[in-house]
Amino acid sequence: MRPGDRPAWWLEEAPPDPAAPALEGELDVDVAIVGGGYTGLWTALALKERDPALDVVVLEAEFCGFGPSGRNGGFLESFWPALSRLRDRLGDAGALEVARSSTGVFAAVRGLGDDVWLRERGMLLVSAGPSQDAGVVAAVETARALGAAEEARRLSAEEVAARCRSPRFRNGVLFPSAGTVQPARLVRALRRAALARGVGLYEGTRATAIRPGLVETAGGRVRAREIVVATNAWMTGWRPASRRLTNFGSYVVLTEPAPDRLADIGWTGGEAIVDGRMFLHYFRTTADGRVLMGSGSGPIGFGGRVDRRFTHDVPSVRRAEAALRRLLPALDGARIERAWGGPIDVSSDHLPFFGTVPGARIHFGAGYSGNGVGPSWLGGQILASLACGSDDEWSRSPLATRLVPSFPPEPVRRLGGGLVRWGILGLEEAEDAGRRPPPGARAVASLPRRFGMRVGTR
Ligand SMILES: Cc1cc2nc3c(=O)[nH]c(=O)nc-3n(C[C@H](O)[C@H](O)[C@H](O)COP(=O)(O)OP(=O)(O)OC[C@H]3O[C@@H](n4cnc5c(N)ncnc54)[C@H](O)[C@@H]3O)c2cc1C
Repeated sequence: MRPGDRPAWWLEEAPPDPAAPALEGELDVDVAIVGGGYTGLWTALALKERDPALDVVVLEAEFCGFGPSGRNGGFLESFWPALSRLRDRLGDAGALEVARSSTGVFAAVRGLGDDVWLRERGMLLVSAGPSQDAGVVAAVETARALGAAEEARRLSAEEVAARCRSPRFRNGVLFPSAGTVQPARLVRALRRAALARGVGLYEGTRATAIRPGLVETAGGRVRAREIVVATNAWMTGWRPASRRLTNFGSYVVLTEPAPDRLADIGWTGGEAIVDGRMFLHYFRTTADGRVLMGSGSGPIGFGGRVDRRFTHDVPSVRRAEAALRRLLPALDGARIERAWGGPIDVSSDHLPFFGTVPGARIHFGAGYSGNGVGPSWLGGQILASLACGSDDEWSRSPLATRLVPSFPPEPVRRLGGGLVRWGILGLEEAEDAGRRPPPGARAVASLPRRFGMRVGTR
């Protein structure tokens, strides 16, 4: 199956909406938002909620959902599953604050009132190899240590098998504060909600220059008191954020409907599942009995460019399919119907960051590191507070105030990242195959941690 030939299946399944016009001419508004994915649209909605009189426009280069918001895996997570990472970076109080505040996304998605295939059935982290056991234990122990044991429930091998039977799963942990959605339905529901609240939307409208008070596009310009940049992986090349961001590819394969096979392995409860790899596999079912298997092991970008590496990489699709066959052998006869990929915006500590360009009313947020479907709601609240100049729980969130370490400059970033990726892939593939890793792989794979950075999608 070749990626890139056809769009994400989600975009075809979601009922279409008429396109919005491109911007022609000049506009004067209160807030201009660049980027019509989840972050841009949640920000627009949050702004309108705070002050319905605000004049807000969203400028989207292609169409809302063209980016990963229309083609992701649809894992809708709070930050509870990321508690260990939060604790490392933000300490106990900061970790709890961010995890608690992130759960508002579920009510917000329900509140949209559209059928976005929301299933709030939790997420399993399964150990699929001896080196992954420690991650399960750490998740459970961190939640217990922070007084939130109910957010990470330990599951024995039998308890995992009762939810999804695989010869590879050793044990696991259930994070109840998670679910799945049909991602393209979600972005279209947000788009409709924004239009209904009077947000101005211009599609096919790429921002070509962003300066204090002004966004330029091919067909016009927008003068705005406040500007919010919500371009995600496309922000990697934008100077105010570029030192803190890199991008790499994530790819998925989707099977034909196979409800009988899912019934055979007991995976009928709709739980989302991830394994404990560094380049993790993520897998879920759909309402019509398909399985989506994703692999966060795609190529690393160069210099902030978003190019064919993120949409046409055949080896990444092969790795996703190999994971499907290895982790869920009961799905062996199920044909792969579609494969696609997209860029993910990775920050050096694997947490999103939000801020304001010093001396300018230009706000930005990115760095979801492969986990932005749920957190983009929180991002929208934070960006709305920054744009309103509010001093509140959102603008004071540790995600908006912490110091994010810088990546090295190019070409060191690309070369170093490529080497580390080689090491991690070598280690993890050797473990799957039960063979020795290539010489040097272990030492290379541990380099980022020694420098206080994280690479990979976990
Ligand atoms: C294959 C894949 C699977 C994933 N699976 C999951 C998952 O299961 N769960 C999860 O939580 N996360 C997942 N993610 C990540 C998640 O999709 C993103 O974190 C999230 O969609 C980010 O939303 P966003 O609005 O910030 O960015 P985007 O959706 O990328 O939106 C940014 C928008 O900005 C537009 N844009 C760019 N430049 C300009 C410009 N100059 N002018 C105007 N517009 C511009 C783009 O066209 C794009 O539409 C996945 C990502 C990929 C690629």
